[in-house]
Amino acid sequence: MTVPGPIAFCHQLLRELVKRGDVVVDATIGNGHDTLVLAELVGPDGLVYGFDVQQSAIQATSARLEAKGFEQRARLVNVGHEQAFALVDVHHRRSLRAVVFNLGFLPGGDKSVATEAGTTVAALSSLTPLIADGGLLLLVLYNGHTGSLDEIDAVLKWCGRLDPSQFLVASYGYVNRPNNPPFAIVVEKLAQ
Ligand code: SAH
Repeated sequence: MTVPGPIAFCHQLLRELVKRGDVVVDATIGNGHDTLVLAELVGPDGLVYGFDVQQSAIQATSARLEAKGFEQRARLVNVGHEQAFALVDVHHRRSLRAVVFNLGFLPGGDKSVATEAGTTVAALSSLTPLIADGGLLLLVLYNGHTGSLDEIDAVLKWCGRLDPSQFLVASYGYVNRPNNPPFAIVVEKLAQ
């Protein structure tokens, strides 16, 4: 076997956790790779809410879902994740099985449109209370875009303030790779 990178590791966790009929959020759909995995896992009775500030990300993700016939499983919205809370149906609140963030910029796209500390933390603060007991918040963080160090710092501080009786927080990534490789943060919402 090969030790998985952070994205593959997150996908393994999602495959273990997310079941048919679940409702999940992809907070940064980008090219739609995570959205597709989530749509496959929630099945025809489930729902993936997807958010991105770039219309090109919505288009790329829609095309990826349509190619598999999964377009009915996702609700893709061209707004920032800091506004996502209001767009999650009231009856889906507190029942999200997973919320995933793949931060940074759209690969192959406009590098100047990257996630930022302020809006990322606003989205984390508003969406995390919607996660079901036993559900996961997954983040993949990058060091490279403008403001990325501030974003990493803000996310780690935010995670460090989570109540340990309610959340388990872990990090995962390669430690001997060049060029600041991405790493994952996994937050489990503990059953109360
Ligand atoms: N860097 C990753 C992909 C990240 S894609 C990789 O290499 O695989 C990150 C996505 O977040 C981009 O499509 C970007 O448009 C989107 N984004 C930036 N700010 C956002 C915000 N406030 N809300 C939602 N999406 C945002």
